[in-house]
Amino acid sequence: SIKGQYGKHFAVYDENLRNQLLREQAITDSMEAALAEEQFLVYLQPKYTAEGGCLAGAEALVRWNHPQWGFLSPAEFIPLFEKNGFITKLDQFVWERSCAILKRWIDQGYPQVPVSVNVSRADIYQADLCDILVGFIEKYQLSPSLLHLEITESAYTENQEQIIDTVNNLRQRGFIIEMDDFGTGYSSLNMLNEMPLDVLKLDMKFIRNETAKPADEGVLRFIMGLARWMDLKVVAEGVETKEQLERLNELGCDYVQGYYLAKPMPAIEFENLLKSGQLAVMSRDGGRNHKD
Ligand code: C2E
Ligand code: MG
Ligand code: MG
Ligand code: MG
Repeated sequence: SIKGQYGKHFAVYDENLRNQLLREQAITDSMEAALAEEQFLVYLQPKYTAEGGCLAGAEALVRWNHPQWGFLSPAEFIPLFEKNGFITKLDQFVWERSCAILKRWIDQGYPQVPVSVNVSRADIYQADLCDILVGFIEKYQLSPSLLHLEITESAYTENQEQIIDTVNNLRQRGFIIEMDDFGTGYSSLNMLNEMPLDVLKLDMKFIRNETAKPADEGVLRFIMGLARWMDLKVVAEGVETKEQLERLNELGCDYVQGYYLAKPMPAIEFENLLKSGQLAVMSRDGGRNHKD
């Protein structure tokens, strides 16, 4: 009967929801121990200059290697940690690790490239955010310009005055500020103009074939022109093909990051890129690292 079918349907729905809640609970129950037991790892994804393909930096991306579940996607646990507040603790771990990595490169005499860390919107409301970051910089004797802070565009649109204040403060201390996922939030031109900023990180939706709209070509050109005019650098993320790389280069994009160039990797592997002579020069066919 129809009634029976609906009943079944709801039962399936409840089951999915129940499983999801159980999984969220299990994640929440194990996060503190995971941090203590070093299940969280900091991976680095290289960034290159769009023209010339010089290694220009890295983004620090957290990975959770869970003993039972294997590698979990940040897309699953980060939103959960943003809800339950654990993100501030995890981010501080990632920032300190990133500083330790930078210090190691200096000690080893490797070339210096900056590391960009993600700053969750929850972190911005911590009164001691600036002190914590400055504390790490001092502990590892780094120049703050080596640590770039990625703040998602949508975070900028709530409590604007407070955010501007905090980010101004960070910038005055010498940190470089990158607006992450640019184009997914709702910044007005007026707001952009008032924002303390150094870099725009274009969201990958603009360049992915599945999501890019014909009008995005014009939008991209506009963004590049705007950035030039405002004296901001542009990083494109999610570059997956040679065609995308070439197009971004034509458009005047400054830096590129994406699977076509290199995937996020353990810090020790990234070190090999820093050490190897070939890192500074892009090979003729445009590929530096094979997409796998
Ligand atoms: P995001 O900051 O925008 O980072 C870029 C994401 O795109 C990363 O996903 C990266 O692995 C992925 N990516 C890079 N190149 C490509 C590509 O060519 N194609 C595709 N499809 N994806 C690419 P990931 O590592 O899964 O992280 C997802 C999001 O989780 C990040 O987006 C960021 O918002 C958040 N996240 C990751 N690590 C941290 C962290 O340590 N702290 C905080 N607060 N958030 C983090
Ligand atoms: Mg980011
Ligand atoms: Mg991003
Ligand atoms: Mg993104």
